[in-house]
Amino acid sequence: MAKMTVEDLPLEGKKVLMRVDFNVPIKDGKVGDDNRIVAALPTIKYVIEHGGKAILFSHLGRVKKEEDKPGLSMKPVAARLSNLLNKPVTFVPVTEGKQLEDAINQMNNGDVLMVQNTRYEDVKDGKYVKRESGNDPELGKYWASLGDVYVNDAFGTAHRNHASNVGIAQNIGAGKSAVGFLMEKEIKFLGNAVDNPERPFVAILGGAKVSDKIGVIDHLLGKADKIIIGGGMAYTFMAAQGKKIGNSLVEPDKEDVAKEIMEKAGDKLVLPVDNVEADAFKNDANTKVVEGGIDDGWEGLDIGPKSIAKFEDVLKDAKTVVWNGPMGVFEMPNFAKGTLAIGKFLGSLTNATTIVGGGDSTAAAKQLGIADKLTHISTGGGASLTYLEGKTLPGIAAISEK
Ligand code: AMP
Repeated sequence: MAKMTVEDLPLEGKKVLMRVDFNVPIKDGKVGDDNRIVAALPTIKYVIEHGGKAILFSHLGRVKKEEDKPGLSMKPVAARLSNLLNKPVTFVPVTEGKQLEDAINQMNNGDVLMVQNTRYEDVKDGKYVKRESGNDPELGKYWASLGDVYVNDAFGTAHRNHASNVGIAQNIGAGKSAVGFLMEKEIKFLGNAVDNPERPFVAILGGAKVSDKIGVIDHLLGKADKIIIGGGMAYTFMAAQGKKIGNSLVEPDKEDVAKEIMEKAGDKLVLPVDNVEADAFKNDANTKVVEGGIDDGWEGLDIGPKSIAKFEDVLKDAKTVVWNGPMGVFEMPNFAKGTLAIGKFLGSLTNATTIVGGGDSTAAAKQLGIADKLTHISTGGGASLTYLEGKTLPGIAAISEK
Protein backbone atom coordinates (compact mmCIF):
# COMPACT_ATOMS: atom_id res chain seq x y z
CA MET A 1 0.00 0.00 0.00
CA ALA A 2 1.32 3.37 -0.98
CA LYS A 3 -0.38 5.47 1.69
CA MET A 4 1.45 6.58 4.83
CA THR A 5 0.26 4.86 7.99
CA VAL A 6 0.22 6.11 11.57
CA GLU A 7 3.50 4.24 12.12
CA ASP A 8 5.21 6.53 9.60
CA LEU A 9 4.32 9.75 11.45
CA PRO A 10 6.26 11.55 14.19
CA LEU A 11 3.97 11.42 17.25
CA GLU A 12 5.98 12.31 20.38
CA GLY A 13 4.78 15.69 21.64
CA LYS A 14 2.71 16.24 18.50
CA LYS A 15 -0.87 17.42 18.31
CA VAL A 16 -2.37 14.51 16.39
CA LEU A 17 -5.67 15.35 14.70
CA MET A 18 -7.57 12.10 14.30
CA ARG A 19 -10.70 11.44 12.25
CA VAL A 20 -12.50 8.45 13.71
CA ASP A 21 -15.91 6.97 12.94
CA PHE A 22 -17.83 7.30 16.19
CA ASN A 23 -21.19 7.51 14.46
CA VAL A 24 -22.77 5.20 17.05
CA PRO A 25 -26.40 4.76 18.08
CA ILE A 26 -27.40 6.99 21.02
CA LYS A 27 -30.43 6.15 23.15
CA ASP A 28 -31.56 8.29 26.08
CA GLY A 29 -28.23 10.11 26.12
CA LYS A 30 -26.21 6.87 26.23
CA VAL A 31 -24.17 4.98 23.65
CA GLY A 32 -25.79 1.73 22.42
CA ASP A 33 -23.59 -0.53 20.30
CA ASP A 34 -20.01 0.73 20.82
CA ASN A 35 -18.34 -1.46 18.17
CA ARG A 36 -17.14 1.51 16.19
CA ILE A 37 -15.46 3.06 19.21
CA VAL A 38 -13.81 -0.23 20.08
CA ALA A 39 -12.62 -0.57 16.47
CA ALA A 40 -10.71 2.73 16.69
CA LEU A 41 -8.97 1.94 20.01
CA PRO A 42 -5.80 0.37 18.56
CA THR A 43 -4.93 3.53 16.63
CA ILE A 44 -5.84 5.88 19.49
CA LYS A 45 -3.78 3.79 21.93
CA TYR A 46 -0.86 3.69 19.54
CA VAL A 47 -0.89 7.49 19.25
CA ILE A 48 -1.02 8.15 23.00
CA GLU A 49 1.44 5.40 23.87
CA HIS A 50 3.90 7.11 21.51
CA GLY A 51 3.51 10.44 23.26
CA GLY A 52 1.02 12.02 20.89
CA LYS A 53 -1.83 14.30 21.96
CA ALA A 54 -4.90 12.68 20.44
CA ILE A 55 -7.47 15.21 19.22
CA LEU A 56 -10.49 13.27 17.97
CA PHE A 57 -13.02 14.36 15.35
CA SER A 58 -16.12 12.42 14.32
CA HIS A 59 -19.57 13.05 12.98
CA LEU A 60 -22.67 11.69 14.69
CA GLY A 61 -25.93 11.41 12.75
CA ARG A 62 -27.13 14.22 10.51
CA VAL A 63 -27.39 17.80 11.73
CA LYS A 64 -29.80 19.74 9.52
CA LYS A 65 -31.25 22.25 11.98
CA GLU A 66 -30.32 23.76 15.37
CA GLU A 67 -32.80 21.48 17.17
CA ASP A 68 -30.88 18.39 15.94
CA LYS A 69 -27.79 19.42 17.90
CA PRO A 70 -28.57 18.55 21.55
CA GLY A 71 -29.46 14.92 20.75
CA LEU A 72 -26.35 14.52 18.61
CA SER A 73 -23.71 15.73 21.06
CA MET A 74 -20.46 13.76 21.30
CA LYS A 75 -20.53 14.01 25.09
CA PRO A 76 -21.83 10.46 25.76
CA VAL A 77 -19.39 9.13 23.18
CA ALA A 78 -16.47 10.80 24.95
CA ALA A 79 -17.68 9.26 28.22
CA ARG A 80 -17.80 5.77 26.71
CA LEU A 81 -14.37 6.24 25.15
CA SER A 82 -13.03 7.26 28.54
CA ASN A 83 -14.39 4.03 30.05
CA LEU A 84 -12.90 1.93 27.28
CA LEU A 85 -9.49 3.61 27.49
CA ASN A 86 -9.63 3.71 31.27
CA LYS A 87 -8.37 7.28 31.29
CA PRO A 88 -9.91 10.78 31.17
CA VAL A 89 -11.10 12.14 27.84
CA THR A 90 -11.57 15.90 27.67
CA PHE A 91 -14.81 16.70 25.87
CA VAL A 92 -14.98 20.09 24.15
CA PRO A 93 -18.61 21.01 23.36
CA VAL A 94 -17.73 23.21 20.37
CA THR A 95 -16.13 22.67 16.96
CA GLU A 96 -14.15 25.92 16.73
CA GLY A 97 -12.99 28.96 18.66
CA LYS A 98 -11.05 29.86 21.79
CA GLN A 99 -12.54 27.17 24.04
CA LEU A 100 -11.31 24.47 21.67
CA GLU A 101 -7.93 26.11 21.02
CA ASP A 102 -7.27 26.63 24.76
CA ALA A 103 -8.21 23.02 25.54
CA ILE A 104 -5.81 21.77 22.87
CA ASN A 105 -3.00 24.03 24.12
CA GLN A 106 -3.42 22.67 27.62
CA MET A 107 -2.97 19.04 26.58
CA ASN A 108 -0.04 16.97 27.80
CA ASN A 109 1.59 14.19 25.83
CA GLY A 110 -0.65 11.11 25.90
CA ASP A 111 -3.85 13.07 26.60
CA VAL A 112 -7.08 12.50 24.68
CA LEU A 113 -9.54 15.19 23.64
CA MET A 114 -12.86 14.75 21.83
CA VAL A 115 -14.17 17.64 19.72
CA GLN A 116 -17.94 18.16 19.41
CA ASN A 117 -19.79 16.49 16.50
CA THR A 118 -18.17 17.77 13.28
CA ARG A 119 -21.62 18.11 11.70
CA TYR A 120 -22.52 20.89 14.14
CA GLU A 121 -20.65 22.90 11.48
CA ASP A 122 -23.40 22.03 9.00
CA VAL A 123 -25.81 24.41 10.74
CA LYS A 124 -24.77 27.98 11.57
CA ASP A 125 -27.15 30.62 12.95
CA GLY A 126 -30.10 28.40 12.13
CA LYS A 127 -29.04 27.92 8.49
CA TYR A 128 -28.11 24.62 6.87
CA VAL A 129 -24.74 25.63 5.42
CA LYS A 130 -23.00 22.21 5.21
CA ARG A 131 -19.55 23.49 6.13
CA GLU A 132 -18.46 20.00 7.21
CA SER A 133 -20.46 17.94 4.68
CA GLY A 134 -19.58 20.31 1.84
CA ASN A 135 -15.86 20.34 2.69
CA ASP A 136 -15.79 24.12 3.16
CA PRO A 137 -12.15 25.04 2.37
CA GLU A 138 -11.90 27.48 5.31
CA LEU A 139 -13.07 24.84 7.78
CA GLY A 140 -10.55 22.23 6.63
CA LYS A 141 -7.81 24.86 6.81
CA TYR A 142 -8.88 25.95 10.30
CA TRP A 143 -9.06 22.43 11.72
CA ALA A 144 -5.70 21.57 10.13
CA SER A 145 -4.18 24.64 11.85
CA LEU A 146 -5.03 23.10 15.25
CA GLY A 147 -2.59 20.22 14.90
CA ASP A 148 0.78 19.00 13.64
CA VAL A 149 -0.18 15.77 11.92
CA TYR A 150 -3.40 14.03 10.81
CA VAL A 151 -4.55 10.43 11.05
CA ASN A 152 -7.70 9.20 9.30
CA ASP A 153 -9.11 5.98 10.74
CA ALA A 154 -12.73 6.52 9.67
CA PHE A 155 -13.30 4.02 6.89
CA GLY A 156 -17.07 4.40 7.26
CA THR A 157 -16.90 7.94 5.86
CA ALA A 158 -13.98 7.45 3.46
CA HIS A 159 -16.36 7.62 0.46
CA ARG A 160 -17.43 11.13 1.44
CA ASN A 161 -15.71 14.41 0.66
CA HIS A 162 -16.07 16.22 4.00
CA ALA A 163 -13.92 18.77 5.80
CA SER A 164 -12.93 16.52 8.71
CA ASN A 165 -11.91 13.56 6.58
CA VAL A 166 -10.63 15.24 3.41
CA GLY A 167 -10.24 18.98 4.14
CA ILE A 168 -7.84 18.50 7.05
CA ALA A 169 -5.69 16.09 5.03
CA GLN A 170 -5.58 18.57 2.15
CA ASN A 171 -4.37 21.35 4.45
CA ILE A 172 -2.09 19.67 6.98
CA GLY A 173 0.83 19.52 4.55
CA ALA A 174 2.72 16.94 2.53
CA GLY A 175 3.97 13.93 4.44
CA LYS A 176 1.92 14.80 7.51
CA SER A 177 -1.19 12.69 6.99
CA ALA A 178 -1.66 8.97 7.40
CA VAL A 179 -4.24 6.23 7.69
CA GLY A 180 -4.86 4.46 11.00
CA PHE A 181 -4.78 0.71 11.60
CA LEU A 182 -8.48 0.20 10.92
CA MET A 183 -8.30 2.00 7.59
CA GLU A 184 -5.08 0.17 6.71
CA LYS A 185 -6.78 -3.17 7.35
CA GLU A 186 -9.81 -2.24 5.24
CA ILE A 187 -7.60 -1.15 2.34
CA LYS A 188 -5.54 -4.31 2.64
CA PHE A 189 -8.47 -6.73 2.62
CA LEU A 190 -10.83 -4.98 0.20
CA GLY A 191 -8.00 -3.76 -2.02
CA ASN A 192 -6.31 -7.16 -2.26
CA ALA A 193 -9.59 -8.96 -2.75
CA VAL A 194 -10.57 -6.84 -5.71
CA ASP A 195 -7.25 -6.01 -7.33
CA ASN A 196 -5.05 -8.91 -6.44
CA PRO A 197 -7.30 -11.80 -5.40
CA GLU A 198 -6.19 -15.33 -4.87
CA ARG A 199 -8.37 -17.27 -7.33
CA PRO A 200 -11.00 -18.48 -7.71
CA PHE A 201 -12.50 -15.16 -6.59
CA VAL A 202 -16.24 -15.32 -5.97
CA ALA A 203 -18.47 -12.35 -5.17
CA ILE A 204 -21.86 -12.84 -3.51
CA LEU A 205 -24.25 -9.96 -3.97
CA GLY A 206 -27.65 -9.74 -2.39
CA GLY A 207 -29.87 -7.22 -0.68
CA ALA A 208 -32.83 -5.29 -1.88
CA LYS A 209 -32.00 -3.48 -5.07
CA VAL A 210 -30.13 -4.10 -8.31
CA SER A 211 -29.88 -0.33 -8.77
CA ASP A 212 -27.68 0.02 -5.66
CA LYS A 213 -25.25 -2.59 -6.94
CA ILE A 214 -25.05 -2.15 -10.70
CA GLY A 215 -21.70 -0.37 -10.34
CA VAL A 216 -20.38 -3.21 -8.18
CA ILE A 217 -21.58 -5.93 -10.56
CA ASP A 218 -20.10 -4.08 -13.52
CA HIS A 219 -16.72 -3.64 -11.88
CA LEU A 220 -16.58 -7.15 -10.45
CA LEU A 221 -17.52 -8.74 -13.77
CA GLY A 222 -14.04 -7.81 -14.90
CA LYS A 223 -12.41 -9.09 -11.71
CA ALA A 224 -14.30 -12.05 -10.24
CA ASP A 225 -14.48 -15.61 -11.52
CA LYS A 226 -18.10 -15.98 -10.42
CA ILE A 227 -20.78 -13.59 -9.19
CA ILE A 228 -23.57 -15.11 -7.14
CA ILE A 229 -26.80 -13.10 -6.99
CA GLY A 230 -29.37 -13.59 -4.23
CA GLY A 231 -31.81 -11.54 -2.19
CA GLY A 232 -34.48 -9.21 -3.50
CA MET A 233 -32.34 -8.11 -6.44
CA ALA A 234 -32.49 -11.61 -7.95
CA TYR A 235 -36.17 -11.08 -8.87
CA THR A 236 -35.34 -8.30 -11.32
CA PHE A 237 -33.05 -10.80 -13.05
CA MET A 238 -35.83 -13.41 -12.99
CA ALA A 239 -38.28 -10.91 -14.48
CA ALA A 240 -35.71 -10.07 -17.15
CA GLN A 241 -35.59 -13.80 -18.04
CA GLY A 242 -39.35 -13.68 -18.55
CA LYS A 243 -40.10 -15.69 -15.42
CA LYS A 244 -43.07 -15.05 -13.14
CA ILE A 245 -42.17 -13.20 -9.97
CA GLY A 246 -45.59 -12.69 -8.32
CA ASN A 247 -45.47 -9.83 -5.82
CA SER A 248 -41.70 -10.07 -5.27
CA LEU A 249 -39.53 -7.01 -5.00
CA VAL A 250 -38.65 -5.81 -8.50
CA GLU A 251 -37.26 -2.79 -10.32
CA PRO A 252 -38.97 -2.94 -13.72
CA ASP A 253 -36.83 -0.09 -15.06
CA LYS A 254 -33.71 -2.14 -14.33
CA GLU A 255 -34.73 -5.23 -16.28
CA ASP A 256 -32.82 -4.02 -19.34
CA VAL A 257 -29.67 -3.55 -17.29
CA ALA A 258 -30.19 -7.01 -15.79
CA LYS A 259 -30.46 -8.46 -19.32
CA GLU A 260 -27.28 -6.69 -20.40
CA ILE A 261 -25.45 -7.97 -17.34
CA MET A 262 -26.62 -11.54 -18.01
CA GLU A 263 -25.48 -11.36 -21.63
CA LYS A 264 -22.12 -9.89 -20.72
CA ALA A 265 -21.52 -12.26 -17.83
CA GLY A 266 -22.53 -15.56 -19.38
CA ASP A 267 -21.90 -18.38 -16.93
CA LYS A 268 -19.98 -16.08 -14.60
CA LEU A 269 -23.32 -15.05 -13.15
CA VAL A 270 -24.91 -17.57 -10.78
CA LEU A 271 -28.62 -17.02 -10.10
CA PRO A 272 -30.96 -18.82 -7.67
CA VAL A 273 -32.71 -21.92 -9.01
CA ASP A 274 -35.43 -22.05 -6.37
CA ASN A 275 -37.03 -19.68 -3.89
CA VAL A 276 -39.01 -19.62 -0.69
CA GLU A 277 -42.24 -17.79 -1.47
CA ALA A 278 -44.66 -16.41 1.11
CA ASP A 279 -48.28 -15.29 0.90
CA ALA A 280 -47.54 -12.19 3.01
CA PHE A 281 -44.52 -10.11 4.06
CA LYS A 282 -44.40 -11.46 7.60
CA ASN A 283 -42.49 -14.11 9.47
CA ASP A 284 -45.45 -16.43 10.09
CA ALA A 285 -46.82 -16.23 6.54
CA ASN A 286 -47.56 -19.48 4.69
CA THR A 287 -44.53 -20.55 2.66
CA LYS A 288 -43.64 -22.84 -0.25
CA VAL A 289 -40.41 -23.71 -2.00
CA VAL A 290 -40.83 -23.13 -5.72
CA GLU A 291 -38.71 -23.57 -8.84
CA GLY A 292 -38.92 -21.65 -12.08
CA GLY A 293 -41.04 -18.75 -10.87
CA ILE A 294 -43.10 -17.24 -8.08
CA ASP A 295 -46.86 -17.89 -7.92
CA ASP A 296 -49.34 -15.08 -8.45
CA GLY A 297 -50.21 -13.41 -5.16
CA TRP A 298 -47.02 -14.72 -3.47
CA GLU A 299 -43.61 -13.09 -3.03
CA GLY A 300 -40.10 -14.52 -2.92
CA LEU A 301 -38.45 -13.80 0.42
CA ASP A 302 -35.50 -16.20 0.50
CA ILE A 303 -33.43 -18.51 -1.69
CA GLY A 304 -34.44 -22.18 -1.59
CA PRO A 305 -32.43 -25.33 -0.66
CA LYS A 306 -31.34 -26.08 -4.24
CA SER A 307 -29.98 -22.54 -4.62
CA ILE A 308 -28.10 -22.93 -1.35
CA ALA A 309 -26.56 -26.19 -2.64
CA LYS A 310 -25.72 -24.58 -6.00
CA PHE A 311 -24.09 -21.56 -4.34
CA GLU A 312 -22.12 -23.78 -1.96
CA ASP A 313 -20.85 -25.77 -4.92
CA VAL A 314 -19.54 -22.58 -6.51
CA LEU A 315 -18.05 -21.41 -3.22
CA LYS A 316 -16.36 -24.63 -2.11
CA ASP A 317 -13.15 -24.10 -4.09
CA ALA A 318 -13.04 -20.31 -3.74
CA LYS A 319 -9.87 -18.75 -2.36
CA THR A 320 -11.31 -15.24 -2.07
CA VAL A 321 -14.93 -14.38 -1.34
CA VAL A 322 -16.49 -10.94 -1.03
CA TRP A 323 -20.04 -10.89 0.28
CA ASN A 324 -22.35 -7.89 0.18
CA GLY A 325 -26.07 -8.12 0.86
CA PRO A 326 -28.30 -10.80 2.43
CA MET A 327 -29.84 -13.69 0.45
CA GLY A 328 -33.32 -12.98 1.78
CA VAL A 329 -35.29 -11.02 4.34
CA PHE A 330 -32.90 -12.11 7.11
CA GLU A 331 -34.58 -9.89 9.69
CA MET A 332 -37.40 -12.47 9.82
CA PRO A 333 -36.12 -15.84 11.14
CA ASN A 334 -38.18 -17.89 8.64
CA PHE A 335 -36.50 -16.09 5.75
CA ALA A 336 -33.00 -15.91 7.21
CA LYS A 337 -32.17 -19.52 6.31
CA GLY A 338 -30.49 -18.79 2.98
CA THR A 339 -28.36 -16.01 4.44
CA LEU A 340 -27.48 -18.16 7.43
CA ALA A 341 -26.56 -21.19 5.32
CA ILE A 342 -24.31 -19.15 3.02
CA GLY A 343 -22.74 -17.32 5.96
CA LYS A 344 -22.06 -20.59 7.78
CA PHE A 345 -20.60 -22.12 4.66
CA LEU A 346 -18.28 -19.14 4.27
CA GLY A 347 -17.25 -19.62 7.90
CA SER A 348 -16.27 -23.22 7.11
CA LEU A 349 -13.96 -22.21 4.25
CA THR A 350 -10.74 -22.28 6.21
CA ASN A 351 -8.50 -21.94 3.15
CA ALA A 352 -10.22 -18.86 1.78
CA THR A 353 -10.13 -15.16 2.57
CA THR A 354 -13.74 -14.29 3.33
CA ILE A 355 -14.75 -10.66 3.41
CA VAL A 356 -18.07 -9.13 4.32
CA GLY A 357 -18.63 -5.78 2.65
CA GLY A 358 -20.38 -3.86 5.37
CA GLY A 359 -23.92 -2.56 5.84
CA ASP A 360 -26.71 -5.10 6.11
CA SER A 361 -24.45 -8.08 5.46
CA THR A 362 -22.36 -7.09 8.47
CA ALA A 363 -25.54 -6.83 10.53
CA ALA A 364 -26.64 -10.23 9.20
CA ALA A 365 -23.28 -11.86 9.97
CA LYS A 366 -23.42 -10.52 13.52
CA GLN A 367 -27.07 -11.35 14.09
CA LEU A 368 -26.44 -14.87 12.85
CA GLY A 369 -23.36 -15.32 15.04
CA ILE A 370 -20.91 -16.05 12.21
CA ALA A 371 -18.92 -12.82 12.26
CA ASP A 372 -15.90 -14.31 14.06
CA LYS A 373 -15.61 -17.14 11.52
CA LEU A 374 -14.96 -14.77 8.63
CA THR A 375 -11.62 -13.20 7.74
CA HIS A 376 -12.71 -9.58 7.61
CA ILE A 377 -15.91 -7.69 8.31
CA SER A 378 -15.78 -4.24 6.81
CA THR A 379 -16.83 -1.35 9.04
CA GLY A 380 -18.13 0.73 6.13
CA GLY A 381 -21.22 -0.07 4.06
CA GLY A 382 -21.17 2.78 1.53
CA ALA A 383 -17.40 2.97 1.61
CA SER A 384 -16.93 -0.72 0.88
CA LEU A 385 -19.46 -0.58 -1.96
CA THR A 386 -17.58 2.38 -3.44
CA TYR A 387 -14.39 0.34 -3.16
CA LEU A 388 -16.04 -2.64 -4.84
CA GLU A 389 -17.19 -0.34 -7.64
CA GLY A 390 -13.52 0.38 -8.28
CA LYS A 391 -13.93 4.06 -7.46
CA THR A 392 -11.54 6.29 -5.56
CA LEU A 393 -12.44 7.03 -1.96
CA PRO A 394 -11.79 10.73 -1.27
CA GLY A 395 -10.87 10.05 2.38
CA ILE A 396 -8.08 7.71 1.32
CA ALA A 397 -7.01 9.66 -1.78
CA ALA A 398 -6.30 12.76 0.34
CA ILE A 399 -3.75 10.95 2.54
CA SER A 400 -0.01 11.42 1.86
CA GLU A 401 1.78 8.78 -0.17
CA LYS A 402 4.66 6.97 1.51
P1 AMP B 1 -29.20 -3.87 1.04
O1 AMP B 1 -29.23 -2.70 1.96
O2 AMP B 1 -29.34 -3.52 -0.39
O3 AMP B 1 -28.05 -4.80 1.32
O4 AMP B 1 -30.55 -4.67 1.33
C1 AMP B 1 -30.79 -5.30 2.54
C2 AMP B 1 -32.25 -5.52 2.69
O5 AMP B 1 -32.73 -6.31 1.63
C3 AMP B 1 -32.62 -6.25 3.97
O6 AMP B 1 -33.39 -5.40 4.76
C4 AMP B 1 -33.43 -7.42 3.47
O7 AMP B 1 -34.57 -7.68 4.27
C5 AMP B 1 -33.83 -7.02 2.09
N1 AMP B 1 -34.15 -8.16 1.26
C6 AMP B 1 -33.36 -9.21 0.99
N2 AMP B 1 -34.00 -10.11 0.24
C7 AMP B 1 -35.25 -9.63 0.02
C8 AMP B 1 -36.40 -10.12 -0.67
N3 AMP B 1 -36.39 -11.30 -1.30
N4 AMP B 1 -37.51 -9.36 -0.67
C9 AMP B 1 -37.51 -8.17 -0.03
N5 AMP B 1 -36.47 -7.66 0.64
C10 AMP B 1 -35.34 -8.39 0.67
